[in-house]
Amino acid sequence: ATLSLTGCGRSDVDAEAAKAGTALSGFPQDAVIGVALPKKTSENWTLAEKLFNDGLSSAGFKANVQFANNGVSEQQNQISTMITSGAKVIVVGAVDGAQLGTQLQQAKDAGAVIIAYDRMLTNTKAIDYYVAYDNFKVGELQGQALLEGMQAKKPGPYNVELFAGSPDDANSKVFFDGAMSVLKPKIDDGTLKVVSGQADFQQAVTQDWKAENAQRRMDSLLSGSYASGELDGVLSPNDTLARAIITSVKSAGKSVPVVTGQDSEVESVKSILAGEQYSTINKDTRKIVEHTITMVKDLQQGLALEINDNRNYKNEFKRVPAFLLPPTIVTAANVKTAYVDDPTLGPITK
Ligand code: BGC
Repeated sequence: ATLSLTGCGRSDVDAEAAKAGTALSGFPQDAVIGVALPKKTSENWTLAEKLFNDGLSSAGFKANVQFANNGVSEQQNQISTMITSGAKVIVVGAVDGAQLGTQLQQAKDAGAVIIAYDRMLTNTKAIDYYVAYDNFKVGELQGQALLEGMQAKKPGPYNVELFAGSPDDANSKVFFDGAMSVLKPKIDDGTLKVVSGQADFQQAVTQDWKAENAQRRMDSLLSGSYASGELDGVLSPNDTLARAIITSVKSAGKSVPVVTGQDSEVESVKSILAGEQYSTINKDTRKIVEHTITMVKDLQQGLALEINDNRNYKNEFKRVPAFLLPPTIVTAANVKTAYVDDPTLGPITK
């Protein structure tokens, strides 16, 4: 059943929170706040670690920020340790959002509030809020960029290949579905041809978001399906994989197709400036971390949180009140203005 979010404001959220059993009574200002981050699969996560440490500490909290580079069981242990140390809020960027149910329930039982950060937590009712960039919109923007980039070069039809992110990351399917909402009608009407025939999410996934896995798959797509024909475009879900795809195409001696991306990684922004990678997505990590810390501060004061999502986010067990930030597309057309206030990327694009 689809829940209507019409008029969803603070009082609705209070009701949601009450239903979820979320304590709105506040907690001490120097409380422990846990932040469980996944593997360092892209630059945004590394930046988030620093921003959470700095932002939470300067707000007076005791920050416990951890990476789970060894995967699910390491992340489960880290969350258990956060519970033991009395964390009042646990912010979770999951390695695998479906595998933390036991620890998250223990955290709830101990009185902690759970915020899913960037990636949805699934398969559990032990989740209170979700904060993320609008992931479906990210996919839509990628699909549109792929199409527009190819149309700017020549008239169709176009030969394309599709890549998706890691299947254990709940975002991967959402990115892919967003992109396919734009691309599927064009596949159906013959504008786009997936020459390999690999057009399903499961065929397109890249385990662990690893560059080497995308590069290997691109190598075999090229030798299997493009011995003679041209490859016009590749849907890539993020920048790390986009650069691996471009490396593969170049070493096969082919000209670089239109390749999409995400995250505004330094090397990809340089590649866009150099006219190689076609697009990326700007999801400013500073803004999402800042908003997450605002949520923590509101919880500390016993306030209900601001909710703005119209995507009706839910997992198998409950609707999850969400705050979504807007992603923006970056191509050569706007790369010089997109990062003017970004201390890392601004100077590069000047
Ligand atoms: C994030 C992306 C990132 C990917 C790999 C996703 O969950 O939303 O921004 O590219 O993880 O790290």
